[in-house]
Amino acid sequence: MSNDHENRDEQLKTIRDELLNFTQSPLYEYRTQNNYFPVVGQGNHYATFMFIGEAPGKNEAQTGRPFCGAAGKILDKLLESVQIKREDVYITNIVKDRPQNNRDPEPEEIELYAPFLDRQIEIIKPKVIVTLGRFSMAYIMKRFGLAHELKPISTLHGTIHTSSSFVSFPITIIPMYHPAATIYNSQTKEQLFNDFQILKKYL
Ligand code: URA
Repeated sequence: MSNDHENRDEQLKTIRDELLNFTQSPLYEYRTQNNYFPVVGQGNHYATFMFIGEAPGKNEAQTGRPFCGAAGKILDKLLESVQIKREDVYITNIVKDRPQNNRDPEPEEIELYAPFLDRQIEIIKPKVIVTLGRFSMAYIMKRFGLAHELKPISTLHGTIHTSSSFVSFPITIIPMYHPAATIYNSQTKEQLFNDFQILKKYL
């Protein structure tokens, strides 16, 4: 195994350990009361594509795996539709613990958990970041110095942005709708499946 390989695994393990003991989070007590796990991220540490959702739901918090519930089934279909294997990508969220009753994450929670995501990006060095939903879109666009390009997700979904600020390598950022947003909206579903086609050119 190469040094880089060991380093990536080690560094991601450190993040996991820190999250397990993240007692300063306002979501920590809710996690322990419910025997939930933090959801750190899952997938290939050398992934070309990193998918960033919002926060774990109940299924995810119970298993410690991202996107393994209803939204995850849709994500699986989306990946399948462009012949991308789930094990080849890396999937994570901005907020790593489940907010009570799936409420939206608070700005302070995003701020508190975001440094873990920043480190995951620096370790994995993906070529393409796909943000799923408006929370990760807003955070990533701002983090990469693209705040001036920020618009509502209904305008920005499926658009391609590039930046190398904050990291030392160029990254393509593609905002997309959250898979859960397609559950009751067939138009959003069609748009999300269309937007996924863009990913083929980065394979
Ligand atoms: N929704 C998210 O944003 N992330 C998950 O991991 C599951 C559902």
